[in-house]
Amino acid sequence: MSIKDNLEKIQNRINEAEIKSGRKTGSVNLMAVSKFHPQSSVLEAIQAGQFLFGENRVQEASQKFPEVFETYPQAKLHMIGQLQSNKVRNAVKVADCIQSVDRIELLEEIEKQCAKIEKKIKILFEVHTGEESKSGFKTTDELKSAIDLFGTGKFTHIIPCGLMTMAPFTEEKALIHKSFSTLRELSEKLKSEYKALNFDVLSMGMSGDFEIAIEEGSTLVRVGTAIFGERDYTK
Ligand SMILES: *Cc1c(COP(=O)(O)O)cnc(C)c1O
Repeated sequence: MSIKDNLEKIQNRINEAEIKSGRKTGSVNLMAVSKFHPQSSVLEAIQAGQFLFGENRVQEASQKFPEVFETYPQAKLHMIGQLQSNKVRNAVKVADCIQSVDRIELLEEIEKQCAKIEKKIKILFEVHTGEESKSGFKTTDELKSAIDLFGTGKFTHIIPCGLMTMAPFTEEKALIHKSFSTLRELSEKLKSEYKALNFDVLSMGMSGDFEIAIEEGSTLVRVGTAIFGERDYTK
């Protein structure tokens, strides 16, 4: 199966899941997670009409994407992996959104680096919702103290857009549902508490669980393997 065929198949499954859960078709966006796959695969996906990509390592993204943007300025990249502070400078150069904001220190570094290059960047707050997943804000209090900082006028280059999570890696569907519904409920709570901020994006769902995520309200699914095939981690 080609990347084009895979994209078509995934898009159909997304549409079916939208209909099944009584949601409008087109309400869920598809991100193609191209980590560990070559630039040629990214270009193949673009040729098939896919313009939103995700990467989790800054160095890899910086090697692959600037050239892609020269030819296809409408292409967008989100960083979705755990981000060390010393990688932020390069991350904000290449990314349109950082989905994996999991601590205040990272917000401060993003603000600092974006101010330097006069760029505004979108972010999602990553939330820990499952027993096994390790990344993300662990408590609502911790998350709220990060969100509260936006009321101080401190972050003029950062646009919060929503929440992101990873479900635990398990066969137990109930646990996956629980993880995604936790994120949705949290976003509803935050929307009513912080009316000035935007929490509309719910980034949840990967190759193995995106249909469950759509049932639970996902607006952005991050699909890698089902589009590009298995990753070769030895490379
Ligand atoms: C790798 C990755 C994905 C894609 O995973 P697949 O199972 O290959 O679809 C999604 N989200 C994050 C945060 C990832 O690191």
